[in-house]
Amino acid sequence: MKKRSILVVWLVCTVFFTSVLAFPVQQEKPLTTAESSEYKATSLYADVMGFIQKLQMHSLRMRVETLGVSAEGRKIPLLVLGNPVPTSPQDLVYDDRMVVYIQANIHAGEVEGKEAALMLARDLALADNPSYLDELVVLIAPIFNPDGNEKISPDNRRNQDGPEQGVGVRTNGLGLDLNRDGMKLESPEVLGLVQNVISRWDPAVLLDSHTHNGSYHEEVVTWVWALNPNGDTSLIRYMSDRVRPEINKILKEKYDTLCIPHGDFMDFREPEKGWRPLDPQPRYLSNYFGLRNRLGILNENYPYADFKSRVMGAYHLFHALLEFCQGQKGEITGLIHEADRNTVQRGMAPTDEDLFGVEYDVRPIKDKITIHGYVMEQYETESGRRRVRKTEKTQMYTMPFFAEFFAKRSVKLPFGYLIPIPVPEVEAKLRQHGIAIEKLTQPVKLMVESFKVTELKGQERPYQGHRLNSIKGEYVEEEVEFPAGTLFIPMAQPLGKVAAYLLEPESDDGFLVWNFFDRNLVPQWGGGQQAYPVYKLYQPAPLVKEVVGEN
Ligand SMILES: [Zn+2]
Repeated sequence: MKKRSILVVWLVCTVFFTSVLAFPVQQEKPLTTAESSEYKATSLYADVMGFIQKLQMHSLRMRVETLGVSAEGRKIPLLVLGNPVPTSPQDLVYDDRMVVYIQANIHAGEVEGKEAALMLARDLALADNPSYLDELVVLIAPIFNPDGNEKISPDNRRNQDGPEQGVGVRTNGLGLDLNRDGMKLESPEVLGLVQNVISRWDPAVLLDSHTHNGSYHEEVVTWVWALNPNGDTSLIRYMSDRVRPEINKILKEKYDTLCIPHGDFMDFREPEKGWRPLDPQPRYLSNYFGLRNRLGILNENYPYADFKSRVMGAYHLFHALLEFCQGQKGEITGLIHEADRNTVQRGMAPTDEDLFGVEYDVRPIKDKITIHGYVMEQYETESGRRRVRKTEKTQMYTMPFFAEFFAKRSVKLPFGYLIPIPVPEVEAKLRQHGIAIEKLTQPVKLMVESFKVTELKGQERPYQGHRLNSIKGEYVEEEVEFPAGTLFIPMAQPLGKVAAYLLEPESDDGFLVWNFFDRNLVPQWGGGQQAYPVYKLYQPAPLVKEVVGEN
């Protein structure tokens, strides 16, 4: 070959490999809309998809899956980042990398997570030495609620400090709040999350990024762990006692970012009384994820910090989380597997100690927390009402953090639940969650516990398209004949706690609350109610049955 042709070949190869394997040095890395607008704007759906395509053009470490299709028909991108990037979860069966999932823009007025998630994807896809990817596969859904995102207007969330060109709306295209859909799965977005991310990839950790509305303080970043007391106690304790201080330490030492647990002052007049997070129900996705024996994190950034500070806060939190997960991968994997094993073993032979909490109370976690707050002053409105407002004077408050929810009334967990009548919607929902269900193929008489409803009230004001039920009744032990075709939901499965939460009659976030059994509970004529059609079998019994939904 002539010298000149060798040079041409060399040049072609160099250009090809640099463009494929790393972003060319001389070319600028793609910028997010937040960065290119100097934090005056946030990305539209097309901006997000364009940014993702640019990363794909220059990275071998990223694949894009579709998490689901939004109610208005937009494909929701799920970025899969790995080194090498797995082509499917099956590639990870003999691979000890741990999967971590970061989700943003579920409430599309709360947009810094979206911009930070895109920046993180860029770091992982294009960096010369990508951090974390030796130990982790990182899944990122930067725009979980694209329909809400496209309704950008400066009139949305006006209490928030930017971006000045506006943000989207809270709900999805169906008018649903996606962070209340963890149990009923009525939105294509959350159903897609459960089926195509959680069940398919089985991430060990989920982070759901939001912007808060509430108390005044200086810290930009706040987060809290899965709080439901029916979740695995060792995982809840691990999050509170180990993950919390470790992540906060990385944030402070490496990123100079102060962080406090997510919450609000219980009493603005007396801040030192305590700090309290959101409710523990699993309709909130981080709590739902905890009930599945995984580590759920709710990130809520401070709305009165400027947009750039919020983007950088979320970005630093994502990095701190990945650094922690990389270092503690073995510990986290061991804990979640043990939680799964314990759930299955308890389900096989439940004892009187295996309980399900139906009413909760809350007490402080063992450490007090310190918040960089403001002096609050009381004033009277023109109509003579007493109110409290923030002054510009800062003040540190040290106070208990009321985040340890505990059951104040419990019922026993069974060996399994039996549903003798056809309830196709319930059967479909159980399967959508990934819960194993079986069907009796022979009739059988069993001693079971039933729940006799004495009072059923639907809420007057609709909530998420439902009139939530509250119920009173009593438990009765009786012998019941179950026909062939009866559904049997065994507790001896890793998702046993999710099944119990959906099926227990007094559960505060189950099928009964969400009206799934309404037509079975109220008779057409006369007063009173019919029996709750889910029965609890406490004693393990051999049953002639087959698995539903397996081919
Ligand atoms: Zn939110």
